[in-house]
This record gives sequence, structure tokens and C-alpha cells, in this order.
Amino acid sequence: MGRTPLNPVSTLFFEYNKRSNTSKCTISDCPHLIMKGQHSMILEKHVEHRHQKSCLELLKEKKRIEHSDSDSDEVYGFDSSNKKLKSLPKSISGLRLMCTENS
Ligand SMILES: [Zn+2]
Repeated sequence: MGRTPLNPVSTLFFEYNKRSNTSKCTISDCPHLIMKGQHSMILEKHVEHRHQKSCLELLKEKKRIEHSDSDSDEVYGFDSSNKKLKSLPKSISGLRLMCTENS
């Protein structure tokens, strides 16, 4: 299976023309409408420099995709072990508090 890069920049702000191998920037007021190729990095750089507002949108979208797509074990393992460490001392201090209140 081929891995397609998860960069939404080309679908969000560009129209790709296969025949001429160019990407057209669809953001209004853009002085550089046509770009060669379809490399996300190039398109992203363009949005970053020319359309800062749209760049923020792009970053948001990227984060959303990353989160909905992340089921990596590494993150899960770290998270659960972190929770254990945090919840243990909490319950102990809770018990202590009850003890001192009773006495
Ligand atoms: Zn543009």
C-alpha cells in the first residue's frame, strides 16, 4: 500500500492540473496563482509566506488530522503509565486527610 502524505494543503488551497503539472492557488488576492508541481512543502511554504491567515487554518486542519489518525502504541503507553503515577499519590493523600479528620 502506498503511503500518501497527510498534508491537507493541496486540497485546502490548491487546484492541481495534471496535464500542465501545476497547482493553482485558490486563495483570493493571491499574486502567485500558479505553481509548478504538487509538492506539499512548496505549497505549504507559499501559504506560509503569502497567506498567513490561511496558514493558521492549515495548521489547525493538520492537527485535527494528526489527532484523528493517531493510534500509536507509544503515545498510549506513555499516557497510561503517566496516569498511574499521578493517581497513586493522590489517593494516598486523600486517605491521610480522612485519617486526620477522624482522629
Ligand atoms: Zn497563494
